Amino acid sequence: MLGFLIFNRTGRCLFINAHGEQLLGIAKPKLKELFTATDRPPFRSFNVDLLKHDGFYQDVMVQKADGGFVANVGVKRVNVSGVHAVLIMLQDVTLQKKLQREISAKQNEIKAAFEELLKQNQQLKELDLAKDRFIALTSHELRTPLAAIYASAEILKMKLYDTPEQMTEFIEMIYEQGHHLQELVNDILDFAKIQAGKMDFFVGQYDLIPFVDAIMNHYVGMAEANNVKLECQKPSAPLPCYFDDVRLRQVLSNIINNAIKYNRQGGSVKIHFESSADMVKVFVEDSGKGIPADQFDKVFNEFETVGNMSQHHKGTGLGMPISRKLTEAMGGKLLLKSTVGVGSTFWVEVPAQKVLEESFYQKRPDASADFAA
Ligand code: ADP
Repeated sequence: MLGFLIFNRTGRCLFINAHGEQLLGIAKPKLKELFTATDRPPFRSFNVDLLKHDGFYQDVMVQKADGGFVANVGVKRVNVSGVHAVLIMLQDVTLQKKLQREISAKQNEIKAAFEELLKQNQQLKELDLAKDRFIALTSHELRTPLAAIYASAEILKMKLYDTPEQMTEFIEMIYEQGHHLQELVNDILDFAKIQAGKMDFFVGQYDLIPFVDAIMNHYVGMAEANNVKLECQKPSAPLPCYFDDVRLRQVLSNIINNAIKYNRQGGSVKIHFESSADMVKVFVEDSGKGIPADQFDKVFNEFETVGNMSQHHKGTGLGMPISRKLTEAMGGKLLLKSTVGVGSTFWVEVPAQKVLEESFYQKRPDASADFAA
């Protein structure tokens, strides 16, 4: 519906139709009252001067006592019975404008979602390529120890050794490479299981202190052999928290093992704890050569680390990626800070409360109750 108004040259209203009155809420408005000169972006205010421009047609802000509205205004000079006058037509387009704004906001949302989808698609493509690379590299790493085992076994079978010592060397080679192969296969299977979301967790409440102490004791011999001092600062009060004992043992063993393995002669590994209402934390601080900050991601990235397997100290390079995934699956975190030349600290945060789906808090069928709280 259109509002019609006719003004004479002095700005007096000669005519206003019913819809015009309804729109403006004034019976016979003066031109001055109707439109103010204040600009309210994004709409220009309707200035009296604009009446000089015959054929004016645009959206303007119309002022009213209760705040105003957006109108689509058209101005036309007319001649009524020899009297020069100005005809103004207006239509309330506030709702239209609001809808337009909403449509444009929705369009922006759709655009952003589409861009996100494109990004995710690209990431999936990259992941797919990385997986291919992972499979190729892993197959290579599996073949190497297998070839060594096969060659050594063949030498033994054909008695191609000269001395009993040589024979023992080949047997040891089979044993070592067999062990390495077993670790590799276990790691790859674990990794695949977590990736596929097929790993079962049996989370219970345990005191973290005796749990860590027992793992640490397991590494006393290795630390001595590497000339590394192993220490633990134990708080006096227990630190109950929720975790899967088998899986967290795997994670902490890996961290402590690395802290000794990548340490220096005469170095140290210090373990300490911290706790808050939500999390219990165990820190493993070593005095090794440290890891540059730009390499942190690589430590936890299965694809990167496998690519550099030759640099691993008889490890598979999957230990850390698996450890991080296991910790996160249990509602915790595995983090790292390090200073090159000083050492690294890996720490695990374990939830102090139940934060996982109820299905995680099941009893292991053959659970050992060694550390049950
Ligand atoms: P690996 O079997 O090679 O030890 P991990 O997944 O356990 O594999 O660790 C990945 C890599 O992170 C290691 O090869 C090593 O380069 C680095 N790293 C892990 N722990 C430490 C540490 N405490 N100090 C220095 N480097 C470490």
